[in-house]
Amino acid sequence: MQDDSITIRLRLTGLRVLAVKEAGKWIEVVAQYRDNEAVCPRCERSTWQVHQWHIQRKRDAKLWGKEVWVALLKRRFRCRHCRKVFTEPDPACGPRRRTTGRLRQTVARRAREATVRSVAREEGVSEGLVERSWVEAHSLISPPARPHVFLGLDGFCVRRPGRMWTGMWDLESGKAVAVVPGERQVDVQGMLERHAPRESVRAVAIDLSEAYRQAVELVLPDAAVVADKFHVLALAGRALREVRGETRRRGNLAWLLQRGAERLSQPERTRLLQALAADPRLARAWGLKEALREVYRKKRQGEAVVALEHWIKEAEESGLRPFRRTAATLRRWQKEVLNYWRHPITNALVEGKHNRVKVLKRRAYGYRNDRSFLLRILSLIHTD
Ligand SMILES: [Zn+2]
Repeated sequence: MQDDSITIRLRLTGLRVLAVKEAGKWIEVVAQYRDNEAVCPRCERSTWQVHQWHIQRKRDAKLWGKEVWVALLKRRFRCRHCRKVFTEPDPACGPRRRTTGRLRQTVARRAREATVRSVAREEGVSEGLVERSWVEAHSLISPPARPHVFLGLDGFCVRRPGRMWTGMWDLESGKAVAVVPGERQVDVQGMLERHAPRESVRAVAIDLSEAYRQAVELVLPDAAVVADKFHVLALAGRALREVRGETRRRGNLAWLLQRGAERLSQPERTRLLQALAADPRLARAWGLKEALREVYRKKRQGEAVVALEHWIKEAEESGLRPFRRTAATLRRWQKEVLNYWRHPITNALVEGKHNRVKVLKRRAYGYRNDRSFLLRILSLIHTD
């Protein structure tokens, strides 16, 4: 038996060190799992009958500045009860991994401070491994203190158009639950399956995204889908802008139009009214935008049902194409819009997080590639 100090420094749970070979730049550790028995995955009874041995070489975290390779003697057992042949489990590395979990944790930790490239160079591993470890470490979110009840799903753009990611948040604790690259149904479905327990989740607030809606309905059939209030209101704001055909600037008419009527000063209100009086189309559009906000002021769901139906009809008959389109969208999302009165949750908090992502994007101008940038976004989202 070799040096115990090495065994202790290695601290790979369940592994026994059989031999250590040290050369100039590397250390090789021959090891095997301590248990003499393994549980058959088919019949769940334990067995000790070894069918064959094989060696797998795994990369471990550096020790004393030297690369460490673990030559793992792995056993294949034959179940004495059902005859199944199976390889013993490998908790130190994980199934089908060529690195130890500890190496991956080490590089993931270091990648928080340093660039992917420098960590890869210093640890003597590929940049791909650093990235994968990073994502692995940060998608392993610690189990929540309380089971998730209200969740929010929100897509956000990462750097270039076309690169959307989806974040999932616990709306009660305000904490990120998970983040995945992509915004397709399959991306979101996988995330929900792993992180959103069907027994506890009662409602999920989402953008008006068909992919999100279908993913939630499939994975959480008992949860209510709530169309996020701010995304719904933004539809009317956008339609108004299209009617007017102008970009918004503080103080100008476009700005006055978008602002909530109750938040305008007296002179601003006068200016707005004059402009609306001169342009009946614009007046109709502005009225619709304000009317949708009114719908959200209804106290009871029954009132909201009536008000929303009324709004959709008005918009359909407004003769304003952008509003007809909004009406059609809200028609498709009526149930989810009205679920807000059962579960008054919104993604407002999530949006705040994304604003910080935007700030980061501005700062990230100098990053050499998207990959390190993405990792930094993940870290930002996960640090609180
Ligand atoms: Zn068996």
